[in-house]
Amino acid sequence: RSKDGGGGMFHAYEPQLHVAAEERRVLEFALRAAVEQGQMHLTYQPVVNARTGGLLGFEALLRWTHPEFGVIPPAKFIPLAEETRLIPAIGEWVLRTACAEAARWEQPARIAVNISSEQLHSPAFATTVADALASSGLAPGRLELEVTESVFLREGTSAVATLERILDLGVQLSLDDFGTGYSSLGYLAHTRFNSIKIDRGFVQSASRGTKEAIAIIRAVVALADSLGMATTAEGVETEDEHHMVQAIGCTRAQGYYFGQPLPVQEARALVSHTGRATIAA
Ligand code: C2E
Ligand code: MG
Ligand code: MG
Ligand code: MG
Repeated sequence: RSKDGGGGMFHAYEPQLHVAAEERRVLEFALRAAVEQGQMHLTYQPVVNARTGGLLGFEALLRWTHPEFGVIPPAKFIPLAEETRLIPAIGEWVLRTACAEAARWEQPARIAVNISSEQLHSPAFATTVADALASSGLAPGRLELEVTESVFLREGTSAVATLERILDLGVQLSLDDFGTGYSSLGYLAHTRFNSIKIDRGFVQSASRGTKEAIAIIRAVVALADSLGMATTAEGVETEDEHHMVQAIGCTRAQGYYFGQPLPVQEARALVSHTGRATIAA
């Protein structure tokens, strides 16, 4: 591959780094056009009442199918969108699409939308949320925004100020992937989270009998209970895991055992076949 065909300077390249950078450039370029060209869509994963199994709502999960490269997982393109400043536009599309969809449901199920920290660092974001609610007609209490602990890492309080403005709209707020980041209990007291989502890693370890994981989930549930917050067990895949998180006292659950992320029509049908009493629980 080297220009001089011999032991020249081009051998200094790490071939893998080169490929990664090239792939990044290609993906970034593709990502810029993805929303406009209709390559993205949302799937909706059920969130249930952990005690009864009844449907409470859905988490909107973004999917990207590129005409050439096929399905690209969020774990790959979300970080790229965050680094390249594309996330505000993509995130706004997600928010507006999810609100518009939830407003059409026959029952008042909740819709959770993932928000990147970068979105909260724009002061205009609270206005975007207000506008998504107004133009869809969705009741603010039915929208739940999921943020991770990374929101609190950056210097300054702008993200927290934006969160406060969003909370004042009556929107719900949940702390996603709890336990995977720089978990500090301090901001649980400072921010009005409605719910803590316990990361799948803890649920998995606990179901394998890891004492520490069980102890941590118990402690988080006790803390959340005393602060009046819900707890969602993420990544529940089996009946045994459901029984375990039920026994520990998690209030909500989500995972393949209850349902995969569903196409929009299937989510809509699931809402229609669910009684109002179940959703309100
Ligand atoms: P997350 O918000 O923690 O979402 C849960 C992830 O776990 C989803 O992966 C979901 O498909 C997966 N999952 C759910 N139940 C199970 C289970 O029982 N077992 C296993 N193994 N996995 C389960 P997904 O859809 O690939 O999304 C990955 C991450 O990408 C999300 O994690 C979220 O951080 C991010 N993401 C997805 N959509 C959006 C979006 O619209 N905006 C932003 N900012 N981030 C998003
Ligand atoms: Mg989430
Ligand atoms: Mg999560
Ligand atoms: Mg997670």
